[in-house]
Amino acid sequence: MNLKGKRAVVTGSNSGIGLGVAEELAKAGADVVLNSFTNRDEDHDLARSFGERFGVSARYIQADLSDGAQARALIDEAVAQMGGCDILVNNAGIQHVAPIEEFPVEVWNRIIAINLNSAFHTTAAALPGMRAAGWGRIINIASAHGLTASPYKSAYVSAKHGVVGMTKAVGLETAGQGITCNAVCPGYVLTPLIESQIPDQMKVHNMDRETVIREVMLQRQPSGQFATTEQIGGTVVWLCSDYAAQVTGTTISVDGGWTAL
Ligand code: NAD
Repeated sequence: MNLKGKRAVVTGSNSGIGLGVAEELAKAGADVVLNSFTNRDEDHDLARSFGERFGVSARYIQADLSDGAQARALIDEAVAQMGGCDILVNNAGIQHVAPIEEFPVEVWNRIIAINLNSAFHTTAAALPGMRAAGWGRIINIASAHGLTASPYKSAYVSAKHGVVGMTKAVGLETAGQGITCNAVCPGYVLTPLIESQIPDQMKVHNMDRETVIREVMLQRQPSGQFATTEQIGGTVVWLCSDYAAQVTGTTISVDGGWTAL
């Protein structure tokens, strides 16, 4: 799993799964671009720490991926700074829990923009360079909610199903060109995103925190455990390796058995 010399962009990677993915790519030797919409000293310090921890080159590039122009500019800036983009991980995502008839339209649009549209823009911007190089890996962090649904998550479920569909289409458009495009579909991973969703889940289900974790979340994962960010990152590294060169246009579930039910 040696990715030395490969240059990776991981969107939404200053916390949670994106950070875990960036760390596993760096452990495998890849240089990385971290990204989010914030521009704090700690974001840049985080990227600098990758050099000390993993001996790779890393930088932080701010881009608000709710804006398609900024999503494309992120790839252009990454290519300008690193000389190319061999690996693109579309990870940035948000969600909101509400009954569909109470779902604020601006929140719906924002979820679709960040979870789905941003991956369209970054993929379109990164592909010409990958085609010219004859090598590329695009990995979309979708979700078990890209294959199944839950009540009160209509925008998120719609966006993630869209990501799975786009993954198949791009896998076909790039087949035989040294480029693969796949989706990783995590079940529940206890990240800041999931933590922030627990109060809303408590409200709509009328449950306390422990019951939400047990009855709403882990009840869907036959393993009875959260997956870890390292396990999602390791799956991404494998998809980037030569072992997975014939894996394209498909989904890999890391969900403790959720989608087998
Ligand atoms: P998180 O909240 O910890 O991380 C989300 C990342 O996206 C953060 O870095 C955040 O800054 C970034 N982000 C949010 N809005 C952005 C914007 N406008 N522009 C740029 N970056 C933005 O959440 P997470 O759980 O690590 O989620 C990461 C991905 O994994 C998401 O796509 C999510 O849907 C998916 N996922 C998570 C779980 C889970 O259980 N945690 C399960 C399945 C899928």
